[in-house]
Amino acid sequence: MKAQQFVVIGLGRFGSSLALELMEMGYEVLGIDHQEDRVEEMSDHLTHAVMADATDEETMRSLGVRNFDCGIVAIGDNMERSILAAITLKELGVKKVVAKAITILHGRALSKLGVDRVIFPERDMGVRVAHQLVRPHLLDYIEISKDFKIVELTVPACMDGKSLAELNTRAKYGCSIIALNRDSGMIVAPTALDYLHNGDIMVVIGSNESIARFEDEAV
Ligand code: ADP
Repeated sequence: MKAQQFVVIGLGRFGSSLALELMEMGYEVLGIDHQEDRVEEMSDHLTHAVMADATDEETMRSLGVRNFDCGIVAIGDNMERSILAAITLKELGVKKVVAKAITILHGRALSKLGVDRVIFPERDMGVRVAHQLVRPHLLDYIEISKDFKIVELTVPACMDGKSLAELNTRAKYGCSIIALNRDSGMIVAPTALDYLHNGDIMVVIGSNESIARFEDEAV
């Protein structure tokens, strides 16, 4: 299967870090910025880096942007340009358009234009870091709905050597351990006979309340 191709508009801190990470994962990335120095800085690190105005539909068409699987609008400094760049990507028929928003209004405008995913990096990172600060064992989490999430927790010393049957999270707290990650590898769908070791990472799914109870009482 052909690797996905990404076009990243705006090579500021957010756009360049996202573009470099995609490259690191083996994807092809076209980076576009209208500032020469930003393009020069990234030209050796991306598949292609081009100086262009992303709000100019003809230029974007000539760059073949419509053939990309996903376009990310990472313009953070100017709402108007971000919106115009998002419209351009949509007009050209880019399959999936993701855009960074600075304010709620900006985000709402992007959604109304049909942007597939609107992200608020600063706001979301603030929320994430706040959770991690008060939950020392919390490594990461994904909200799967308003009420349910998946969390990654480090196994604390008090659980060392315990089996999942002993822990009995489903009956006691209403959440389930769906994977264990340790140096020797990942155990997906562990059984009641699998044991936990201090420092392992457990992946837990459940309601917000059940996970909070598990974290408060057991971790
Ligand atoms: P960050 O907060 O992620 O550093 P910035 O606002 O500093 O974001 O960066 C946004 C980038 O988007 C800048 O490098 C800027 O030159 C670029 N940019 C802004 N408007 C356009 C445009 N119309 N076409 C291409 N690049 C643009």
